[in-house]
Amino acid sequence: MTSDLDGRTALVTGGASGIGLACVRALAAAGAKVHVVDIDARRTEAAAAEAGGWAHVADLTDPASIGDLPAEVDILVNNAGIQHVAPIEAFPPDVFARIQALMVTAPFLLIRHTLPSMYARGWGRIVNMSSVHGLRASAYKAAYVAAKHGLEGLSKVAALEGAEHGVTSNCVNPGYVRTPLVDGQIDAQAAEHDIPREDVVAEVLLKRAAIKKLIEPADVASLVVWLCSPHAGHITGASVPLDGGWTAA
Ligand code: NAD
Repeated sequence: MTSDLDGRTALVTGGASGIGLACVRALAAAGAKVHVVDIDARRTEAAAAEAGGWAHVADLTDPASIGDLPAEVDILVNNAGIQHVAPIEAFPPDVFARIQALMVTAPFLLIRHTLPSMYARGWGRIVNMSSVHGLRASAYKAAYVAAKHGLEGLSKVAALEGAEHGVTSNCVNPGYVRTPLVDGQIDAQAAEHDIPREDVVAEVLLKRAAIKKLIEPADVASLVVWLCSPHAGHITGASVPLDGGWTAA
């Protein structure tokens, strides 16, 4: 079957779980060869094997890890992310720094690492996994909100610089997606408020969304693949909400 991304090579960070794994699967289904980059060795190998791609085990908070990753890619999906919830006055500075390293510095270094090959080919697609928290703040998420706002700025600069070389750069801004990262938050909130998990989803996580349902990882991945397709060549520097109406309100 021929498809939009036949012959393309992609690199997906955080590709061993959740949204990243869905992106790996969807990019492979669209015809791309995929490099899966993640800190979790077992899941990285499994995801790469499933997609017929390559596994790269790396801790992306370490800038030295980036140099060992492939630079010759057509598509870069900056997706790896972690979360920590605490009020600012109690927020551990080392955790804040680690989140910036993973979610802002690593995307910068990976864009820097892969752009020369995209420029040489005159074609490239960068998709940055932001969040509604790249556009809106929530209390107790200082590091995550700061990092996602930083990623938004980085994405726009890459869009402006890449345009004359055929490279687009965009952010995807999901609301709450059904992944291990969110499962952990649901458990924590259910324990804190002593309410059932379903109530946490509807009344706590999705209280600002119009559609009171968790988003599926495959739905985010479909948008990522579309942004990488030839049909999206005029979309750059954009931030595309996939948030059940959260940011419309
Ligand atoms: P997840 O926890 O399921 O997957 C994240 C992946 O990143 C994991 O495989 C993990 O091993 C990897 N990772 C963590 N630290 C790493 C490191 N130091 N080096 C390399 N890899 C590392 O999370 P997810 O929910 O799929 O989130 C993926 C992205 O989507 C994140 O950037 C997150 O902020 C964003 N996002 C998620 C949601 C949501 O509701 N789940 C909403 C908006 C945005």
